[in-house]
Amino acid sequence: MEAYEELFSFLFECEKIDTHEHLLSSDHYLQSNDILFAVLERSYLPWIIFGARDLPGRTVTRQDLLEGMKKVPAAAFYRYLIRAFSSMYGFEGEFLSEENWNSLAEAIRECYLHGNMIEKWLVRYLNIKKIVWDRYWLMGNFLVDRPLFSPVLRIDPLLYGYSRQAGDHDGKNPFPYADETGISVRNFDDYLALIDSLFRKGVEGGVCAVKCAIAYNRSLSFEHVDRKKAEAVFNPAGPVKPDSEIKGFQDYVFRYCLEKAREHQFPVQIHTGPGYAFQSDPSRLGTIFEEYRDIKISLFHGGFPWVGEPGAMALFYPNLYLDLVWLPVMSPSFAVMALTEWIEATGGSRIMVGGDSWNAEGVVGSFLFNLECIAETLARLVDKKYITLSTARDIGKMILWDNPREFFGSRLQVEG
Ligand SMILES: [Zn+2]
Repeated sequence: MEAYEELFSFLFECEKIDTHEHLLSSDHYLQSNDILFAVLERSYLPWIIFGARDLPGRTVTRQDLLEGMKKVPAAAFYRYLIRAFSSMYGFEGEFLSEENWNSLAEAIRECYLHGNMIEKWLVRYLNIKKIVWDRYWLMGNFLVDRPLFSPVLRIDPLLYGYSRQAGDHDGKNPFPYADETGISVRNFDDYLALIDSLFRKGVEGGVCAVKCAIAYNRSLSFEHVDRKKAEAVFNPAGPVKPDSEIKGFQDYVFRYCLEKAREHQFPVQIHTGPGYAFQSDPSRLGTIFEEYRDIKISLFHGGFPWVGEPGAMALFYPNLYLDLVWLPVMSPSFAVMALTEWIEATGGSRIMVGGDSWNAEGVVGSFLFNLECIAETLARLVDKKYITLSTARDIGKMILWDNPREFFGSRLQVEG
């Protein structure tokens, strides 16, 4: 695999735009007296040990992780972390254990104490020039360190504003934001005006995209709903209602947000694939692509396990973009399969990558997995004489730089 080695080095050196992160501050990790545990707690390891469905509200301990890891030695959600620890801290083991825990934790703490983790690992090591930052825990706050970061406007809480008591999968509701900013919301008109003002604030705050991860809560089928039907559900003082009763409200608000994205020319990132009751296959968004032809929409995660769908949809819809983000960390094999199909379908255009992590360790592990998948896919196409090595390099650069630049447009504020 000569082409593979060459392509991997080329991709590693390339300037990159990272389409999606949830990075927390270094202080968050330094405050913990077990920094390795803090890093692992904010990774995908607990997702495979306990299951994403059962994780919310659960207390995870170091002992839980040590026991759990023994049962999932080959999980990609574990391996990407080991890859990061070996690249960043010279960790030599295949597994984490009681014996090697403290020495690794010490190396991590040293590194956090002696410099800026983002600068050292994302900017200098991975050559990331721009990070699209999804801080889902902060509604309406678009203050980020520029020029490295660009914020997104997360719409999930807006789909739960029918009641003050309701919340999305992160427990978020728009009323605390309305209260803080002094916007009074007495009726449905006021509610829509709140959404309008949030989007205007996003424009002023330098938001580069709208983000929706509502597939963690519900199906991705959004029907046309009459305004009256949505309004009938709206009752801020009322109780939390069952999913079947709020679907119309959510369908209406989702479409309303797409109208706002169109008005302000924001591209939209949508989580597809793993989600609530697995009603989150990309093809459910087919009707949205038929209607919204002038909004660029990126489908996340390859729609895993429905990785064939977004590629096929990209043939039909020129405004559909494909983001590999997170897929190589769920299943590197599926990522290679998806990427092969996508490159054959789109020719290499409209494909992007992101790290989807809460700390530098996650981003390094995730990016190394992403780059390996891209290198492996392109090398196979070179070996089959489908494309030349030089074209493979061009496609690699498109994925890491040109395509995300085109997707986000001038609001991303990158040079070159
Ligand atoms: Zn994410």
